[in-house]
Amino acid sequence: MMPSKTLTALQSWSSVGRWTLFGTMACVVVSVVFNAVMFGDLGATALQRSIVSAIVLPILLGLPLFFYMSLRVRGLAITNRRLGLVARTDSLTACLNRGAFTGKVGTLLTQRAHGSSGALLMIDADNFKAINDLFGHDAGDEALTIIARSIRTILRAGDLVGRMGGEEFGVYLPDVDQHSAEAVAERIRRSVNLAVFAPDGKQRSLSVSIGGVAFEGPASFSDLFRIADQRLYGAKQTGRNRVAVVHVADHPFIDLKRTA
Ligand code: GH3
Ligand code: MG
Ligand code: MG
Repeated sequence: MMPSKTLTALQSWSSVGRWTLFGTMACVVVSVVFNAVMFGDLGATALQRSIVSAIVLPILLGLPLFFYMSLRVRGLAITNRRLGLVARTDSLTACLNRGAFTGKVGTLLTQRAHGSSGALLMIDADNFKAINDLFGHDAGDEALTIIARSIRTILRAGDLVGRMGGEEFGVYLPDVDQHSAEAVAERIRRSVNLAVFAPDGKQRSLSVSIGGVAFEGPASFSDLFRIADQRLYGAKQTGRNRVAVVHVADHPFIDLKRTA
C-alpha cells in the first residue's frame, strides 16, 4: 500500500500543477537536447527552427496530457483515501471497526516509550436483546448510534473508540492513570444513562457496563483486552450499569514483561 504521506500529497491541487509543469518541462528539455544533437550540423536557420519545434510541440502535447494524467492520479488518490476510511469505519456507529481499532491500539502500544501510561476500556450495552425484542431491530440500531455518540462526547482528541462487534465497544485512553481512567469510564456510563432514547415516544433509559484496565510501561493488546473483558464480565455479574477498572499490576494473571 502507498504511504499515507504520498497519498495525501497526491490529493492536492499543487501536486497537479507540479506534475503538469515539471513533466512538460522535462519533455521540452529532452526534446531540445535531442534536436540539438540531431540537427546541430544543418546550419543556424534549420537548428533554430528545430529548437522552436522542440519547445512548442512538447508544450502543446505534454501540457494537456500531463494535466489530464495528474488530474486522474489525484482522483484515484482521493478515492483511495475514502476507501481506506470506509474499510476502517463501522458503518452504523461511525466508530473504528474491530480490525482498525485493534490494529491502531496495537501499534500505539508498541510505539510507546517505556514508562508511559494508558487504559483500555470494554463497554457493553446492558440487556440489549430486550431493546430489540421490545422495540424492534431499527430501534436497537438507533440505540447503538446513541451509545456510540454518548461515548464520543466524553473522549478527548487522541482517545480511540471502536465497535468490537454487536453491542460492544472498546475505548483506548492514552496517558491516563487508573484514577482518571475510572473517572472517564464513570462519565461514559452516566452519559449513556442520560442519553435521550424514546423509540415509542417515552424516554427509555439505556445503560452500559464497563470493564477496564490501566497500565504503565510495556503492555500487549491481547493481555489488556483479556483483563478488561474479565472486568466487564465482573461488572455484569454484579448488577450491570457499573464500572470496574483495575490496574494491570493488581491483576493476578498478567506477565508484565510480555509486549505486543
Ligand atoms: P447483557 O447485559 O448481558 O450484555 O445482555 P445483552 O442482551 O445485551 O446481551 P446478549 O449477548 O444476550 O444480546 C446482545 C444483543 O445485541 C443480541 C443482538 O441481536 C443484539 N445486536 C448485536 N448487534 C446488533 C446490531 O448491530 N443492531 C441491533 N439492533 N442489535 C444488535
Ligand atoms: Mg450486552
Ligand atoms: Mg455483548
